[in-house]
Amino acid sequence: MMHKTGCWITAVILILVPICSADAQPERNMMALVGGTLIDGFGSHPLLNSVILISGQEISAVGQVGELPIPAGADVVSTEGMTVLPGLWDMHVHLMINGHSDYEHWDKTYPGSFGSVIMPASAKQLLLAGVTSARDLGAPLTESIAVRDAINRGEIPGPTLYMSGPFIQKRPYPGTEAFRWGVEGAADARAKVQRLAAAGVDLIKLIDQDQMTMDELRAVVDEAHAQGLTVAAHAHRPEEIRRGLEVGVDCFEHTGLATAPEYQSDVMALIQERTAQMNLGPLYWVPTVEVLFNYGYVRDNPEMLDDPSWQVGLPEDIVADIRASIAHPDRLPYFQITPDRQRTLKRKFQQLQASGVKMLIGTDSGIPMKFHSQSTWNELDIWVREMGVDPMEAIRSATYWPAVVMGVADEVGTVTAGKKADIIAVRGDVLRYINLLQDVDIVIKHGVRYR
Ligand SMILES: [Zn+2]
Repeated sequence: MMHKTGCWITAVILILVPICSADAQPERNMMALVGGTLIDGFGSHPLLNSVILISGQEISAVGQVGELPIPAGADVVSTEGMTVLPGLWDMHVHLMINGHSDYEHWDKTYPGSFGSVIMPASAKQLLLAGVTSARDLGAPLTESIAVRDAINRGEIPGPTLYMSGPFIQKRPYPGTEAFRWGVEGAADARAKVQRLAAAGVDLIKLIDQDQMTMDELRAVVDEAHAQGLTVAAHAHRPEEIRRGLEVGVDCFEHTGLATAPEYQSDVMALIQERTAQMNLGPLYWVPTVEVLFNYGYVRDNPEMLDDPSWQVGLPEDIVADIRASIAHPDRLPYFQITPDRQRTLKRKFQQLQASGVKMLIGTDSGIPMKFHSQSTWNELDIWVREMGVDPMEAIRSATYWPAVVMGVADEVGTVTAGKKADIIAVRGDVLRYINLLQDVDIVIKHGVRYR
């Protein structure tokens, strides 16, 4: 299709980079999405027979058929029979990995391809899955910034990315120094955060904070906040949560505590002490339950591991390497304890829900057998179908709230006039059948249609 700016956008899935001619007219392209049921991201009743007008990168008006006129010359896209909603966010992805089961092998073999091949492929897969914004929590610094910026400049397709760059932790695991930075003392902790901030990261990722001294930990979080950055921290161990709360971590990651049946009462009391303080704003939590919850299912029903969607953008040799590494899902050491954790997830999820934290959709996408083309809808599916989350709330945890967390709620997160046109549409009623999100029909990011 050809837009009035002179931008050509092919609808072919394999060629998704818009090519804009240098002599683009100042006149903006106009697109009209017409007829579908709109979930705008604010949580109230969907708008039937919706009309969304897109001008350039932005939504210029939202209304209904018969009430909001469609400008002459607009590129009209029918959304009849579809649910239309804000582009999804995934708040916990790892672009530098693609589902391979052996981290040690991956970290030795592919760092040279992270920036040129692997992270761009992951980004493209996310976008095609309807993820128009994503938070990457742990990758080498130079590549993180370069891939994010190349997407922002329109050079390669992908979601708007928010990058942490390297993990900050007490000590990097051997062989992971390129994307895990250790800290030795409070001054070093501050210096490392300052280095990340100066390079332009969007947030700080903290793990193993129970191994740091309190001085080091405080230095990391205080310096991040002084630099205007939020801190997302692992919550796998009770002491990571206790200390994280004490120093003012903004967002916790994972539903942890291994095979323990529930969060201990003192941990729950600390969380509730925090959520009770309105002046501090919400405490955010990205439970990433799906990978654990679905392991047994995927082990026994591995057809989804053959889906070509996760191979998009990856060369044949890397695809073959990943495939071989997951040929026997039942044998992967990484997951042997997972069935014992799976049994505890509902209880822990419910505890978090009841504690008043604001939970966000995030997936750990990229870890063994978790592909960027599938992770996000899988998480939404488990929240709604297994954890009993209201589908509208689940969608808001993947749209409205992430935009608030990243400080960009005035730009994205809802389908509202004046915001960037990050919009997806899918045939059918996603409020009744959330798993329809596995096959998104329309993906628009910043006014450009990618699918
Ligand atoms: Zn992770």
